Amino acid sequence: MISSPAHPPEVACDDPGVYRTLLESTKAIPWRIDWATMQFTYIGPQIEELLGWSPASWLTVNDWADRIHEEDRQNTVDFCVAQSQQGIDHEADYRAITRQGDYVWIRDVVHVVRRPDGGVESLVGFMFDISARKKAEDKIVQLQRELELLSYRDSLTGVANRRMFDTAYPAEWVKAREGGHPLSLVIIDIDYFKQYNDHYGHVQGDECLRRVARAIDAAASHPGQLCARFGGEEFVVLLPGTDREAARSAAERCRKLLMAEEIPHVRSGVGRLVTVSMGIGTIIPGAQDDPKVFLDRIDRRLYQAKSAGRDRLCDTEA
Ligand code: GH3
Ligand code: MG
Ligand code: MG
Repeated sequence: MISSPAHPPEVACDDPGVYRTLLESTKAIPWRIDWATMQFTYIGPQIEELLGWSPASWLTVNDWADRIHEEDRQNTVDFCVAQSQQGIDHEADYRAITRQGDYVWIRDVVHVVRRPDGGVESLVGFMFDISARKKAEDKIVQLQRELELLSYRDSLTGVANRRMFDTAYPAEWVKAREGGHPLSLVIIDIDYFKQYNDHYGHVQGDECLRRVARAIDAAASHPGQLCARFGGEEFVVLLPGTDREAARSAAERCRKLLMAEEIPHVRSGVGRLVTVSMGIGTIIPGAQDDPKVFLDRIDRRLYQAKSAGRDRLCDTEA
């Protein structure tokens, strides 16, 4: 049978050595600042291992402020001073500068100690090293960014995908309408691609799509221009701020770059190499115009180019 001790352990310990041992062996770094003098009256020796600055070098709050990363300093100091003046316990995350010139992410948890008359007597706190957590958080943010990028990219060809075009096109349309600028579109479709696949196989078909995409992307490389895979073996090029002439030369450049690739296609109905057909058009969108109607118009021009014999571009209605 377990009997209860005759004397239960004391709730408070009057041996300050015990507290000191506890404080100085924990990972959290304790500190105390006297409010009247703004001087450190204590900082745990662990600080030296974490930041490289000896405990003796922490004299006043200025030493603390000076050792905060420049980009975090003002906000952190302003926030902590305001909270302390109001007597509110608080936490602040910031980058502390190490003696080696590096930085460590710190979470400073601050308790405001008041005198019986209500005035602030001192600040007592713990600094926690939260670098590992911050690193994990940064990694998550980076992964999210990558995911966002990937979700706008066609995985086969690496150019933008349909989703990207569907986002960019209406936005560019509004910009062109509001600015009174021209907007051009080119829809590009590989000729006899079914026969290409049938003859060379799907794997080589994929490689062909990559090479065509690369050529088109290189032709639409100015800032703001976008080459996207529209679906299957179709691509679309969005050319903001581009008039009819400039759009035509971009399309010609595209065909030239593709011809330079010299991708053999022995089953093509128009020659010995892979070719494309294009529908192209330019608009200065007015209030009554609709982006979908304009896109359909360009698509009809593409099919005109097909029926006129392929390996060409069409920029007018029949
Ligand atoms: P046209 O000259 O009239 O454009 O004829 P086409 O054969 O190019 O057009 P069609 O629409 O008949 O065939 C398109 C082919 O594109 C059929 C499909 O298998 C192929 N295709 C679509 N997406 C992919 C892909 O991701 N990889 C490969 N290898 N082939 C694809
Ligand atoms: Mg097609
Ligand atoms: Mg085709």
